[in-house]
Amino acid sequence: MVKKFIVDTMLGKLGRWMLHLGYDVLYFHGKDDRHLLEAAEREGRIIITRDTHLVEEHPHADIFLIRTLDFWEQLRCVAQKFPMNFGETFLSRCSHCNVPVERMKTEEARALLPPKARERATMIFRCPLCNKLYWDGTHPVHIIQLLREHVGLDVGTDKKQSEHRSS
Ligand SMILES: [Zn+2]
Repeated sequence: MVKKFIVDTMLGKLGRWMLHLGYDVLYFHGKDDRHLLEAAEREGRIIITRDTHLVEEHPHADIFLIRTLDFWEQLRCVAQKFPMNFGETFLSRCSHCNVPVERMKTEEARALLPPKARERATMIFRCPLCNKLYWDGTHPVHIIQLLREHVGLDVGTDKKQSEHRSS
């Protein structure tokens, strides 16, 4: 079964990059631990937090404790603890809605793209909730390089979609 997560306040950047990698991630913005625990319990999500008290006070809750302040180390810890086929899952979810994006018929979808991207896009995806479009472009190459350099993950070359707003 695919694991689901909820990241605690203060770990927003980690959550965003987990989404890039294809994890099912929600952000928790509240301050009340009880609400966080309830939200996690309700949807069967693993809590990712830096709060050691939370772990001590709730030893039976499903919590993954992040000990380091170093962001890339945080992402490495998560990727090692919860490995997936990142080559497949990379950029497979909408970064706003946390749902899987859907592949569109390229010829039809091309017309929806900005003129510059229209020519070179070979794979186009759409979020079924917010309709944001994703396609292969230059942005993911940057993300791929950072992941390779800092996390030691090889999520492929430039075959996956980019993140651009269609507006
Ligand atoms: Zn969306």
